[in-house]
Amino acid sequence: MVKAVVGANWGDEGKGKITDMLAKEADIIVRFQGGANAGHTIVNDYGKFALHTLPSGVFYSHTTNVIGNGVALNIPVLFAEIGSIVERGVPAPKILVSDRAQIVMPYHILFDQYEEERLGGKSFGSTKSGIAPFYSDKYAKTGVQVSELFDEELLREKIEGIVQTKNVLLEHLYHKPLIQFDELLATMHEYRDMVAPYVCDVSVYLDKAVREGKTILLEGQLGTLKDPDHGIYPMVTSSSTLAAYGAIGAGIPPYEIRQIITVCKAYSSAVGAGAFVSEIFGDEADELRRRGGDGGEFGATTGRPRRMGWFDCVASRYGCRLQGTTDVAFTVLDVLGYLEEIPVCVGYEIDGEVTKDFPTTAKLAHAKPVLEILPGWNCDIRGIRNYEELPENCRKYVEFIEKEIGYPVTMVSNGPGRDDIIFRGTI
Ligand code: GDP
Repeated sequence: MVKAVVGANWGDEGKGKITDMLAKEADIIVRFQGGANAGHTIVNDYGKFALHTLPSGVFYSHTTNVIGNGVALNIPVLFAEIGSIVERGVPAPKILVSDRAQIVMPYHILFDQYEEERLGGKSFGSTKSGIAPFYSDKYAKTGVQVSELFDEELLREKIEGIVQTKNVLLEHLYHKPLIQFDELLATMHEYRDMVAPYVCDVSVYLDKAVREGKTILLEGQLGTLKDPDHGIYPMVTSSSTLAAYGAIGAGIPPYEIRQIITVCKAYSSAVGAGAFVSEIFGDEADELRRRGGDGGEFGATTGRPRRMGWFDCVASRYGCRLQGTTDVAFTVLDVLGYLEEIPVCVGYEIDGEVTKDFPTTAKLAHAKPVLEILPGWNCDIRGIRNYEELPENCRKYVEFIEKEIGYPVTMVSNGPGRDDIIFRGTI
């Protein structure tokens, strides 16, 4: 049984927590896209962790954690992250790395910085982890696959080509130090030795696992609105954030993905630039940011304050639809307990017309939120385990949103911990 855990919005919805929780009953957890540019925050018996590259199943000794071919693999970051969790008492996780995954090269990270510098005020707000240059090279067919590290002749030839073309840009566009062939080759040898014990033909491994009836979780990074095709292009990430891409980024048949759990946060937050229709500002935003998530809404990778907003039914309905949602996991509901009234964005007004369909980026720039005010419940709901025990207004909030987005909310998360979860119906 293959399940995907993905985001409906701009990311930071709490996918890490939901994946960590579901990993208890899973055998294999697979990262299928993205890289070390976003983080998942997980709170469990070992403490609080911010993972960037490792799948969120690494805290259980019964799981195998897989870096799929779709991932932008930063080898030093992966190993530093394994080291940092083991240091804190987590048993060494079982990790497999796809032989078809491509490698984030040191120059990808530099190009990311140089390009943001060059763009100045028009920059994308990149996390400067090398993700856009990495995927550009992947599709320009000049990327380096893990398997290629093990073919010395091919590797040398490839690096020669890379040095030639990249150095033209470094010299003439960015005016920065050039890449040295010997240095880059030596780095590749280091990477090869680090990753060697973990390299695996992942699609063969997963095919066998599917046939044996294993439970596999595909763990997405970011959310629908950051998808390069369906998101707020160009303020998007460089790999598809959709569950459908899980089939490609892991190497499994699309029809094997039977359950798509789309994680939606009870309010909105976003990082980076781009339209954010239900955004709030000033004291109202500061308070939600301070109370949000687990210890405030600040980026797990960058520490940047997140942009805050009310729940956006238009964006979330679209986000859930594009994911192919079977279940919504509605998270961080406890945070809203301080509010007397809770505004919810139920439509966008664009040039005098109200729509419930999420528009393209150019139109999005003109969109104004149509807000509906719901009554708050004004109390702490942490610790509650039965849906019926939630305050009436809290249930009404969940049910209002469920109706607006049109997908069943089967899980409600009311705290950052593994057990802070309320199931509705069966999952
Ligand atoms: P991800 O990238 O989708 O995994 O999300 P992040 O980890 O970046 O952000 C989610 C934040 O919310 C983290 O700090 C989590 O510990 C926290 N979190 C997740 N679920 C809940 C919840 O139900 N209540 C509260 N208070 N915090 C939560």
